[in-house]
Amino acid sequence: MKLCDLCRLIPIEKPPSLPKTYLDNGPQTQGGDLLFIEYRNENNPPPQGFGYPHYPSESQLKESAKTCDLCRLIYDEFTRIITKMPWPSRDDGFFITARETNQQGFLVWIFGEKGNIRRVGAFGAGVRNGAGSLSSIFRGHPIHKDSSDQTASNIVKQWVQHCTQHHTLCGPPEGLNAPLPSRVIDVGTSPGEAKLIETHGTMKGYYTSLSYSWGIPPHSYKLTRSNLSTYKSAIKFSDEIPRTIVDAIDLTRLLGIRYIWVDALCIMQDSDTDWGNESAKMLNYYGNAYLTISAAASDSSYKGIFNKRDTPPTTVFHLYPKADQKAFLPFPR
Ligand SMILES: [Zn+2]
Ligand SMILES: [Zn+2]
Repeated sequence: MKLCDLCRLIPIEKPPSLPKTYLDNGPQTQGGDLLFIEYRNENNPPPQGFGYPHYPSESQLKESAKTCDLCRLIYDEFTRIITKMPWPSRDDGFFITARETNQQGFLVWIFGEKGNIRRVGAFGAGVRNGAGSLSSIFRGHPIHKDSSDQTASNIVKQWVQHCTQHHTLCGPPEGLNAPLPSRVIDVGTSPGEAKLIETHGTMKGYYTSLSYSWGIPPHSYKLTRSNLSTYKSAIKFSDEIPRTIVDAIDLTRLLGIRYIWVDALCIMQDSDTDWGNESAKMLNYYGNAYLTISAAASDSSYKGIFNKRDTPPTTVFHLYPKADQKAFLPFPR
């Protein structure tokens, strides 16, 4: 992982900001991810006055990209974006500033005519897990392709812990001592151990709830009068597995939470009385849940929670010489 002198000195922790006069003119977008900004305000100071100066021309950046990994990343993103611009001038100097919002990372600009800068790269920043003191500076982490990965559920765990400890407005009003719904699923300690529990409104504790789309029938797994006693000894699905529900049960167990409430399995679906009683309490059931798992990526109970996802290309750099400050990775976004 080699960096040229210019890249090594980029003030990545706090890049210089864009002057307000630039921001006031607003960004102009074109073609989805191509978010280039062109400012033609005569009053704007030229970037020499505020940005971190990088290479003064494309040819010098290209040359440095042969040996510097960050220059390579910047150059690739520049060539991808510049070819889409209506006036692809390639003789301009490169400057680096902070991103427009308070996100971490930096923007790369080229400076041509007076008062006209164009955005030719936007990079996020983050640290690898276990990056020591750098973790307190950079909030970003690499994204795993598989969201059911153990690393991902550990991050969820940390978020939930942080949320319950520090956010006074989040979480159920009764915390860990909420009334459990009339029925909940005890997720057990390993897959296959889940079973239905009837609390008769006498138990307290904490539980997750599942928000999801049932999707197209059949829903042969749902709770009925005939399978109630079976589900109370063990929930095993005979036909097609409702993957979303199984995933939610597994995730609940991974988070160290014992119960989950899922409407299809906790409300008797062939009893008007039970359905009437229980559906009237749904607002409370969701409101009292320690955490609601929202299966937003699936339109069916058969599709599951953990879809594969695109991950941005990342490049790992060792920016700091200190031993406990291991890694830093900018990535184009
Ligand atoms: Zn470089
Ligand atoms: Zn919160």
